Amino acid sequence: MEKNNIQNIYEKKIKLYQKYNKFYYENNKPKVPDSEYDKLKKEILNIETNYKVILSKLSPSKSVGFKPSKNFKKSLHKVPMLSLGNAFNEEDLISFEKKIINYLSMSKNFKINYSAEPKIDGISASLTFKKGKFYKGLSRGDGKEGEDITENLATINDIPKYISSKDFPEEIDIRGEVFIQNNDFENLKEKFANPRNAASGSLRQKNPEDTKKIPLKFIAYTFGYEKGLEVNNQYDFIKKLSEWGFKTNPLNKLISGIKNLIKNYHEIEKKRTNLEFDIDGIVYKVNDFSLQKRLGNVANAPRWAIAHKFSSNKAISKILDIEIQVGRTGALTPVAKIKPINIGGVVVSNATLHNEDEINRKDIRIGDTAVIERAGDVIPHILSIDSKKRPKESKKFLFPTKCPSCGSETVKEFNILTKKTDAVRRCSSEGYYCEKISIEKLKHFVSKEAFNIDGLGKKIVENFWKLKLIKYPQDIFNLDFSKIENLEGWGKLSVQNLKYSIEQKKNISLERFIYSLGIRHIGLENAKLLSKHFVSFSKFKNLSKQIDYEDMLNIDGIGETQVSSIKSFFLNMDNKKVINALGNVLLIKDAVQNSDDGLLKNKTFLVTGKLNVISRAEVKSMIEENSGKTISSVSKKLNFLIVGEKPTKKKVDYAKQLKIKIIDQAEFLKMLNKTS
Ligand code: NAD
Repeated sequence: MEKNNIQNIYEKKIKLYQKYNKFYYENNKPKVPDSEYDKLKKEILNIETNYKVILSKLSPSKSVGFKPSKNFKKSLHKVPMLSLGNAFNEEDLISFEKKIINYLSMSKNFKINYSAEPKIDGISASLTFKKGKFYKGLSRGDGKEGEDITENLATINDIPKYISSKDFPEEIDIRGEVFIQNNDFENLKEKFANPRNAASGSLRQKNPEDTKKIPLKFIAYTFGYEKGLEVNNQYDFIKKLSEWGFKTNPLNKLISGIKNLIKNYHEIEKKRTNLEFDIDGIVYKVNDFSLQKRLGNVANAPRWAIAHKFSSNKAISKILDIEIQVGRTGALTPVAKIKPINIGGVVVSNATLHNEDEINRKDIRIGDTAVIERAGDVIPHILSIDSKKRPKESKKFLFPTKCPSCGSETVKEFNILTKKTDAVRRCSSEGYYCEKISIEKLKHFVSKEAFNIDGLGKKIVENFWKLKLIKYPQDIFNLDFSKIENLEGWGKLSVQNLKYSIEQKKNISLERFIYSLGIRHIGLENAKLLSKHFVSFSKFKNLSKQIDYEDMLNIDGIGETQVSSIKSFFLNMDNKKVINALGNVLLIKDAVQNSDDGLLKNKTFLVTGKLNVISRAEVKSMIEENSGKTISSVSKKLNFLIVGEKPTKKKVDYAKQLKIKIIDQAEFLKMLNKTS
């Protein structure tokens, strides 16, 4: 059973691995970030080393790339095109060298010279030359068989079409990287995630005329099959390549000793942002061809080479500018515009600086060299800066005291509860005076948890704003559809759909309506509390008297911060006008009143584990509708712990200790005279 299970897990992972490969190699559109792909690869390799599974021929330990696309003729490589093993740190490099020394049965002190070559992040191609003439060009494909892309490769200027040098071998496959320069990628960045995908997509066009339009480059670094090559080592071979008319990498070096490899790695990592092309690591190759021959290959990579990869979530780049963005609540967020850099397969050009305090604390300035981190789906941010690299004329960044959008004063509020000044500086304007705030308010208004209007996303809101089709939320319900129909990207059908979804959303609950107004400190939960308190839109709309505000403080969950925010919202005339205008076009449903005298009166509940068919939110509503209360942890205040599937053991044990009644879903429903 156990064995079958592991085999199943293994096969599922291989299937997923193949799916990611297809998206990456064939479609040039990665499905996941490189870090996730690499993680999966590692998991597969771990299973293979730790369990006896039936190995798949598609495993990363056995295969390279992806099978050639049907769009091209296939052709066999006379010598396979392999992938490279990876190293991520000094330890990996030490182990790589140790293995080589053991394999060759050399003494511990044997000095190995390496050709250290920055690893250009493009796609490899193999160019066969016969009697000096460029004869055929293949992509790597699955390593054994590639796509015949001769005509496409022939469009690349860096590839010599005829070589007349006397010492050029009679026949040879020259191999190297086809890539796109970073400045050329700028024009293609809408279509591709990174320069590598762009190079691959451009090179593998069905029509060579389309390839010709894209400025692809080629750098040569190795060979496959050869007849008549008279060179003994990699370093000399690269020199020869250059003599024969190929472009080679000016940053290639001959190095020995792990410490020196690491030094070179860090030097190049710092230079990375200023290079014209994307590199994702450094390749180290045993320089001596006779040693390479003795070492040979494992299934999918040579034993004599390794790729020392750059981190997939950090990189060094330069801060070109600091821009201030204004959010819906007026918060001013500084964003660093950085020199674009590829971090784990994604080209990053913006990094958040969080707030004014963060800039001051780290003394971040325009022109600084910084380490940028991009982890998971979190917005990239500046981890640290290198003050030694700071330009002499650099000045401290002064955070604006006026809103960059509307010119109002910016303020840092004092929080009465924490007795601290806010870290965030805000635009002090209210209502719809500030353009940036207004746009963000509109985006919030149509967002998922608010009006959730299909077909009216953030980009469209921005566009409609620019075209002066909307300014206030009520304008959404009074759009000029005939004008929209004539806009680029719109047609009869899309306009009809938009009309329909707007019409549908005219009917809305009071709680969603309150939330959609985007009052500061009033999120979903507070909007719900307020809607229960006011019950009807007319009561909420006419909120004005001091007594009304004081009354709100009696709502459990609403405090002074929220009340003062609501108060200043209602003091603004624009906001008042918006509420009234919306009231005229919408049907705002009264809140469902919970009875004060329900079946669960004075009883508190907590759910742990998964319930059958009923969601947590639903249970919560059921409890509240019947005058009960849910609380967030086990304590003496708790009356009932509702236990579902896979409950938290700690909660159950503690509840038992406190002698709290533990019930299941059926017992809970019984309390409400319901059955499950
Ligand atoms: P690789 O990119 O790690 O290394 C092999 C390649 O390095 C060679 O084929 C060659 O093209 C290139 N190279 C550049 N300079 C070289 C030099 N001087 N000498 C020798 N080779 C040089 O291996 P790979 O198998 O092509 O691809 C794996 C990479 O692609 C990983 O970084 C992985 O994260 C990424 N990937 C991502 C996804 C995804 O879904 N995100 C899917 C597949 C692959």
